[in-house]
Amino acid sequence: MADADPLLDLPPAMPEAWWRARDAALGVWPAEDLERLRGRAEAAYLGLALGDALGATLEFMTPREVAAFHGVHREIVGGGWLHLKPGRVTDDTEMSLALGRAIRERGGVVSARAAAEAFSAWMSRKPVDIGHTVRRGISAFRRTGVPWVPDNPQNAGNGAVMRCLPVVLATFGAPWPQVVRALRLQGHITHTCALADAGMEAVAALVQVALAAPRGDTAALDDVIALAASVTPELSPEGKPEAGPSGFIVETLRAVFQALQTTTGFEAAMVDVVNRGGDADTTGAILGMIAGALHGPESLPKRWLKKLDPETRAACTEQAAALIGFSPAVSGAKRAVATD
Ligand SMILES: [Mg+2]
Repeated sequence: MADADPLLDLPPAMPEAWWRARDAALGVWPAEDLERLRGRAEAAYLGLALGDALGATLEFMTPREVAAFHGVHREIVGGGWLHLKPGRVTDDTEMSLALGRAIRERGGVVSARAAAEAFSAWMSRKPVDIGHTVRRGISAFRRTGVPWVPDNPQNAGNGAVMRCLPVVLATFGAPWPQVVRALRLQGHITHTCALADAGMEAVAALVQVALAAPRGDTAALDDVIALAASVTPELSPEGKPEAGPSGFIVETLRAVFQALQTTTGFEAAMVDVVNRGGDADTTGAILGMIAGALHGPESLPKRWLKKLDPETRAACTEQAAALIGFSPAVSGAKRAVATD
């Protein structure tokens, strides 16, 4: 048996005062509010897929190239370096769906081994796109059977964050250390790195706070971004605007946070972030899960939903309902949400 994952049981990155206050207030979700929560969870999952499909057209372009070729890009038209059909999604959504299936098969419990096997099966189906760090991590699991890679600062990419939504939904209402453990179990299959973990934790906190916040209450997000930046200053959205953000978690999340904080509503935030180019499908996917959770299903542009690949749309909708149904907030379950 390999040595233990060195980062799995480190304390959460978010400030302890924040998560202790949060955990003290946890309870079962009020039944009369359940439909609203399901709608928000569904909008988060569809938001992820819409951002992926919209942004993939612009991946690896500079903002100047985006402006020259597309003006302001605001329609799902496919194309890009992957020559996608309009509405086709990439690894961000596909890996999320693979992880979500693995969690469903375990009745809502997150297992690194089950997730790694799901990712391996996904890689066998020859995905249209796969990141270098992801391929390396899955290949290592196939060789060694160990579902985590060694701690390495080069793992500070956005590949574990882009696919974390199923864990965020299934752990909604669990004590924060359990949420964090479940996030790391899925993340460390490919991205064992404290900075990547801190970014993933910030995104999970944003989505879970957004799910419960009054619709469109961006102040709730501003607080979480400020708290995350207080412990991980690299993630602060202050300073120069991110243009052409790379897959480095710092550039990706700064672009997402800046877009959230300088716009109003789901569509405007999404258009802002993808038109920055760079890793535009992943900035779109991450922003989509946060903004979808906050603004709800009414905010998702109907013309985008119509373009989204129908099988993908159905799978996201179905998984969102199942995963939030497993969550301690909805099910009242006291059982562990993460194993190993
Ligand atoms: Mg992608």
